[in-house]
Amino acid sequence: MIGPAYDANKHTDLSSLSAAVIDYAQERIRLAPPLDRPLTEAELIDRVGQTITAEGLGGGEAMRIFADELAPTCLSTDHPRYLSFIPCAPSDAASLFDVVVGASSIYGGSWLEGAGAVYAENLALRWIADLVGLPAGAGGVFTPGGTIGNLSALVAARATARAKAPAGLRPNTIVATEGAHSSIKSAAEVMDADLAEVPLNAESRLTGANLREVILALGAEQVFAVVATAGTTNFGTVDDLASVAQVCQEFGLWFHVDGAYGGAGLAAPSIRELYAGIEHCDSFIVDPHKWFFAPYDCCALLYRDPALARAAHTQKAGYLDVLTDAPEWNPTDYSIGLTRRARGLPFWFSLTVNGTHAYSAAIEHTLDVARFAEEEIKRRPHLELVRARDLTVVVFRRLGWDAGDYYRWSDALLADEFAFVVPTAHNGETLARFAIVNPQTSQEDIVAILDTMESHPAR
Ligand SMILES: *Cc1c(COP(=O)(O)O)cnc(C)c1O
Repeated sequence: MIGPAYDANKHTDLSSLSAAVIDYAQERIRLAPPLDRPLTEAELIDRVGQTITAEGLGGGEAMRIFADELAPTCLSTDHPRYLSFIPCAPSDAASLFDVVVGASSIYGGSWLEGAGAVYAENLALRWIADLVGLPAGAGGVFTPGGTIGNLSALVAARATARAKAPAGLRPNTIVATEGAHSSIKSAAEVMDADLAEVPLNAESRLTGANLREVILALGAEQVFAVVATAGTTNFGTVDDLASVAQVCQEFGLWFHVDGAYGGAGLAAPSIRELYAGIEHCDSFIVDPHKWFFAPYDCCALLYRDPALARAAHTQKAGYLDVLTDAPEWNPTDYSIGLTRRARGLPFWFSLTVNGTHAYSAAIEHTLDVARFAEEEIKRRPHLELVRARDLTVVVFRRLGWDAGDYYRWSDALLADEFAFVVPTAHNGETLARFAIVNPQTSQEDIVAILDTMESHPAR
């Protein structure tokens, strides 16, 4: 309950404000969203202008500005024809519960302040740990995204390697592949670490054999982590995790698996074998805001041995002693950052409401639609699959199109609010790409979009 009427509320009575806000949220979750499209800054200045005034506009007007002017210029990433980057298609339960989390002023950094929230988040983390095959002692934290998740894991890996390195040695190299996500390069820059690239095999996967050569050339004592990707962002390729794990074990190296997108596929029995060997990882991430139907922003970060992460990440100060001296689980000790929203709760709530079988079924459904897209592309003479699909990313070319055609085609789809499918690039070639993680994306959507690629040059 809001206590005394704050000055900031003076133009707004609480019941009409909550009706406006809650009604909007309810409608947005209930109705099929329009795709929407961006405006330029000049257009927004023209239409919206300044909204922050000395006296305040009041709740009704502020909501009107958001609903009528701002929201329609933000793409609905849960639209069934939003197939760019990696979409975000939260379940109704997860989206609704995000409203509750927002209303609840929960501090998710410590057990002392957020016991029940931390307990519930840990149930969700444990479900993921079981999918991976991590032991009972594993644990971690929900971070804002895979970028912070990868960085946090790599910081823990380096601290661990340095703690056990012989005197005078300070391992500073991350080994990854060209298929690794851009956030690995970014982490290396933030950490002032070196990044060594392993060549991919003929199937574009990292393998133990290629990894061993690079490690021998570098000297294993220089390396503090090996990053394998379980579902690359551009192609959805899963590295050969079993052979990579074996080489990491051989050299005593920290094995990190980036499953930000593809990790959710662990819940799909039909493709589980692709992930064989993942159970040997020292750390793992998956973004529930990608293929696990949670709202932004949510990455699950897990460690085989959380004590190693705690040693690297716990912030110490007199005003924090009350937390750090306590034996309970403090999520903040496992990643970069101190204050945290209990961002795993919408995911936990949805898992609890729907049950895990619904998750497996929804993921299998998106795999079916991706399989259909692949077949449909092979069937059409003017289209060509670039690489066989592992998960739900499908990359293909329109024969005869140059880069300009792809961009014109994509711009036109968005201008019509028909679909959002941006081109990607690989080896200097512009290509078309679908990322299918939304269970609402249908075979009909795929057909409708592919039909727009008939004309040459693109309209
Ligand atoms: C999306 C992605 C990331 C980065 O995650 P954010 O949540 O966008 O920070 C890292 N790795 C892979 C493989 C990804 O697909």
